[in-house]
Formats: sequence, structure tokens, C-alpha cells
Amino acid sequence: MIDAAGRTIDYMRISITDRCNLRCRYCMPDGITQVAMSEILTYEEIKKICTLAEELGIRKIKITGGEPLVRKGCVDLIGMIKEIPGIIQVTMTTNGVLLKENLKALKDAGLDGINISLDTLDHEKYYKITGTDACDTVLEAVEASAESGIRTKVNSVLQDAGDRQEWRALVKLAEKLPVDVRFIELMPIGCGKRNTGVSNLELLDEIKKEYPDIRIDPEIHGNGPAVYYRIPGFEGSIGFISAMHGKFCNTCNRIRLTSTGDLKPCLCYGDIYPLKELLKSGTDDEIREQIKHAIVIYLTSSGKQAVADDCFTAFISSPSSVWYGLIFMLLTALIVYNGVEDGIERVSKFIMPVLLIMVIGIAIFSLTLKTTLDDGTVRTGLQGLKVYMKPDLTGITVGRFLQITLDAMSQLFFSLSVSMGIMITYGSYVKKDVDLNKAV
Ligand code: SAM
Ligand code: SF4
Repeated sequence: MIDAAGRTIDYMRISITDRCNLRCRYCMPDGITQVAMSEILTYEEIKKICTLAEELGIRKIKITGGEPLVRKGCVDLIGMIKEIPGIIQVTMTTNGVLLKENLKALKDAGLDGINISLDTLDHEKYYKITGTDACDTVLEAVEASAESGIRTKVNSVLQDAGDRQEWRALVKLAEKLPVDVRFIELMPIGCGKRNTGVSNLELLDEIKKEYPDIRIDPEIHGNGPAVYYRIPGFEGSIGFISAMHGKFCNTCNRIRLTSTGDLKPCLCYGDIYPLKELLKSGTDDEIREQIKHAIVIYLTSSGKQAVADDCFTAFISSPSSVWYGLIFMLLTALIVYNGVEDGIERVSKFIMPVLLIMVIGIAIFSLTLKTTLDDGTVRTGLQGLKVYMKPDLTGITVGRFLQITLDAMSQLFFSLSVSMGIMITYGSYVKKDVDLNKAV
């Protein structure tokens, strides 16, 4: 399904529990308030949501938590989701502590990929980060997972506080094992707000000094925003998920389902679309409608969506339509003040240059935004333009449709008013020139 920003949403992350057997300092250092089991979605409810979401275009599922493997029957759930026709991939993110003993069952259930979180290979540091002495256990799980043939990735969040150099040992994991080692920038969400992360741009520079032959890997490795590199002679690749310095909101393809049944379109904003009650008393159509609403979110002109702080957003969300409208009205007033006929004459006289300026402006806008950054992230302005050219109106209410139309008109008025502004200024200048010549 395509959302209001033109992004294809085909991937759902499902947190099946809020509980965890570790206490990572950037995630849940004190343990979190545990929600009663009665509030947590049952596996049957999760399967139902997956089935309805599949009908709306969700094809890939990621099982996560908390720690998914601490919830009894997690393996069964994976088997249940794998049975849904149309779901082409089920993967899991785990801290790896309970992985080795579950590996065979997970493989038999059909799990397609495992992401294992491991921020350091140093025992003491691991203990400091997670509050548990399980470094060896997790490392063994990484090795066993890679050997099992399930596609394995290692996720590492580096923090400035003494863990910055951990990349050296972590990168070497990809030298001897066919695993992708991915560095995730610490996000200022939850307890992550209290910690300082490491920029992936700086990290890549450091890695390049050690491995000057590192090259961008054009192969697609998964569903997410990671950018991959290969080091000659290495079995696996090195990936970068640059949430803070890579700005990938414009290619985001996912929604999230919390363990209590709330659909969250974005991590940065609090919008939720609850499903729990609907699962109890609503019809399939009502549940499907709610999922649709979570996906086809209208991007308000105030930039409420998570695409904020991205060049993409700069175009579609800010400044707001109200400002565009005001500028348009101001310029219209100026034309009227100068005399409508004169104003219209000037505009029509210069209509060709106006169109030319608009076309060139849009072309420059699109081209300049299609830039490959140092870390390989591609940004493109066309993603933004797509919103107005090809909005998917499936499941959109009349109110939302009107909002989209209003926003599109505001964009149009804005372009026109800027062009008219240029023309009026130019026109006044020419007129002044003619008047002066007349005077002479
Ligand atoms: N317990 C599992 C695990 O640790 O893999 C699954 C859930 S955990 C929340 C999923 C991933 O989110 C882990 O790789 C973890 O390192 C990462 N994570 C947690 N808090 C984060 C933050 N503030 N910024 C970036 N990544 C974070
Ligand atoms: Fe648990 Fe994963 Fe959070 Fe660590 S990152 S506390 S393992 S949920």
C-alpha cells in the first residue's frame, strides 16, 4: 500500500512482548513497567492482524520486543505467520541470549532471517551495557546462526561513552563469518535520550582509514534503510543504519505493531491506531479500515510526520500551506493595487518566462536533491513530488482527500505567487525604465 508520502508500506515490525532478559542502558536500564498479560495481544490476534495487513499489501514481518524469545511460544507464532499466503518473509530481532537453544525450532518454523544485537565483544563492556554477563553466549549464538544457514545480521549500537572503538572487533566478525555487521546510530528515543551515540559518517571515516579498500556494496540485503559496504576478503558486509545522519524517512517502508495492539506509523511521533478493542468487538472490515488509516496517513502541512528534518519534508511540509496562502494573497493584493489590467497584462506578457522558470525550478529541485551522500544514502526530491502527482486515495476519508487537495493547491499557489512576484518586480523595473526614458 502507498502512503500519503508516496512510500510503499509493505513491512510490519511486531513487538510481541515488552519484557526483556537484558537491561541495555540506552533501552530499558531499569526494566520497564510490565504490562499485564491480559493487555498483550494473543498469538491468534497477532495472526489475524497479519492476515488483514497482508490483504493491504504487508508482505514482510519482523518479530521483535522487548526480547521476543522470552515470550513462550514465540517459535509457534513464527510458524503461524509463515502459513499466511502472501507473507513472503518472517524475520526476528533478538538479543541472542536464548537463541542458540531455539535455533533449530526457528529454522524448522521457517524463519527467514535473524538480527542479533551485540554492541561489543568485550565481556566487561557487555556487562556494563546490558547488566548481564552473556557476551560469550551471544557470540556463540551468532556463530551457530550463521552456520545454520539462516541469514544472520549483527546489530551494534555504539555509544561515545567508551564504546566508540568497539567497531574494530565487531567488523572482524564479518571477516570470518557470513554475517552482515550493521552499525545503528543511537536514536534519542526512550532511554536513548540520556546517551550520546556515534555518527556513522565519522565511523565510516575511521573504518576507511583501517580498510582503505572498503567499497559500497550495491547488492540489496534486506528491507530496511541500511547502506552496505564490502571489504575485500571478508565473508560478510558492513552496514550502516544512519537514523540521525542519513535521513532515510523518505524511503521508510514500515509500520509497527506494539505488544498491546497499537499500530504506530512512526517512531518519532506519538500517533497510534489502536486495534485491541476492534479485535474484540469489531468486524474484519473495521480492523482493516483502521490498519489502512495507519498506513495512509495524511502528511499535514505542519510537518507532523516523521519525515521531519529531511529535505523531503522541507518541500512538502514546511512552511505550512497557510503561509503559502498568505504570500499568494499578498501578491494578488499587490497586483490589484497596481491596477488589475496592468497586472494581468504584465503577467500574461511574461507567461512564457514564468512557465520556463517554474519548469527549470522544479527540474533543479529534483536534480539537486538526488544526491548520494558520503555514506551512500540517496535522497531524491521526486519522492516529495510524487505525493502530489500520485496520491493513493485508497481508504482515504473525504476530510483527508480535501486536505490533500488543499495542500496541493497551496503548493500550486505558492509556485505561481513566487513566479508572479518575480514577474511583477521585473515588470515594475521595466516600467520604471520606460517611464524614465519617456521623461528624458
Ligand atoms: N531485544 C531485542 C534486541 O535487543 O535485539 C529486540 C528489541 S530491541 C528494542 C531492537 C533493536 O533496537 C536492538 O538492536 C537495539 O540495539 C536497538 N535499540 C534500542 N534502543 C535504541 C536506541 N535508542 N537507538 C538505536 N537503537 C536502539
Ligand atoms: Fe532488551 Fe533489546 Fe532493549 Fe536490550 S535493546 S534492553 S535486549 S529490548
